[in-house]
Amino acid sequence: MYVCGPTVYDYIHIGNARAFIVADVVRRYLEYKGFMVKLVSNITDIDDKMIKRAKETRLSVQELGEAYSDAYFEDIAKLNIKKPDINPRATQHIPEIVKAVEVLVRKRCAYQADGDVYFDVSRFDGYGKLSGNKAEALKMGSRIEVNPKKRNPADFALWKKQRKGEPGWHSPWGIGRPGWHIECSTMAAKYLGETFDIHMGGKDLIFPHHENEIAQAEASTGKPFARYWLHNEWLTVEGNKMSKSLGNFVTVRDALKMCTPQVLRFFLISAHYRSPIDFSKENLKVAETNLERLLNALRRFETLGEREDRTAEDTPLLSVVEEERRRFEEAMDDDFNTPLAISIIFNIAKAVNSYAENKREIAVSTKKEVSGTLRRLLDVLGVEIRTEELGVDEIGQEKELMDLIIDLRREMRERKDWKATDRIRQRLQKLGFIIEDTPEGTVWKRRT
Ligand SMILES: [Zn+2]
Repeated sequence: MYVCGPTVYDYIHIGNARAFIVADVVRRYLEYKGFMVKLVSNITDIDDKMIKRAKETRLSVQELGEAYSDAYFEDIAKLNIKKPDINPRATQHIPEIVKAVEVLVRKRCAYQADGDVYFDVSRFDGYGKLSGNKAEALKMGSRIEVNPKKRNPADFALWKKQRKGEPGWHSPWGIGRPGWHIECSTMAAKYLGETFDIHMGGKDLIFPHHENEIAQAEASTGKPFARYWLHNEWLTVEGNKMSKSLGNFVTVRDALKMCTPQVLRFFLISAHYRSPIDFSKENLKVAETNLERLLNALRRFETLGEREDRTAEDTPLLSVVEEERRRFEEAMDDDFNTPLAISIIFNIAKAVNSYAENKREIAVSTKKEVSGTLRRLLDVLGVEIRTEELGVDEIGQEKELMDLIIDLRREMRERKDWKATDRIRQRLQKLGFIIEDTPEGTVWKRRT
């Protein structure tokens, strides 16, 4: 798999995070199904944005790139995104890129113009096959800036001549730097071969980036480049397109001031990757509540008393879980339908909850099987379960302690000592325990 990675001129935003999480779920599901996955994701550490930002921050392009690629790795680790197997950097692959450009020039698919090298789209018949933008239509398009060095407005730069104050590398066309598109197709071919399985990225990359990757690679090798292209839809913020000029640009670090990484991740996979998703306080809240319900069901189930042998009581639960696991795989097999997969996990949680409500104990092997399945499915989605931090014994202990506190508090309530009961509730809340007084008595849960 090849996933277009970040340009390391700033912190990654939640739209980037969505693309990386979607790719991570695809990877995790393929691994769950027994495939060996090799995932390559590049780091763009030289381009116009890098140069501009380096000037603004008075850092060298290299220092800027190092600082923000460190930040990128920190952010994806927080979001429980598995580290790609290889994270090649553009500036560390200049010889390979120069060689790739030379091949295209030799095949007369690219031409040199005053120190720049451009790809000639008229020399690749398949141009436009991914995006539907045909080279002919692009000639008339007005969105492409006029550049007198180009033969055709749709031609794009493979190599850019060095301008004053910019970093540059030697090449047969003079000192310069690589264009953005050639970096991805060259590094994909180096680490995955001329033809590989899956290429992913946000929808905004379809044109021109991915269209140009195909043109470069296939014009060069005459072989298909990627077998499957998966593009995720847009992310909006409170109903608007996210942009720096609108002032609604949300980095992962900003978002993590509003919710935990686990909630952010759960929210981002709650929509199908080919559907838009709206980042808003309300939607985050919904994700948080759902996740809490799920984790509370699992916690409660895992603290059930245990008996040695299976009885007829276990059978219905085991068959529900087995059936839902099969449906989960069906949902994921159907173009990675995560919202359906999540609703199926909720069916399991419901069954588990109702078992825990009605029965006092369960066979050890049943408990292990049911919670093992639930955890494996959640792991496909990359949702971490906090109970792992506590052993089951500690969870049992926690439950006994909370029962004791609630017992004592009930006695205070009976004495109408409202001040003390409120204080206990508030102090517990600070510690992450939420208690609610209901007509049936006081219940408690852990905050996610
Ligand atoms: Zn790319």
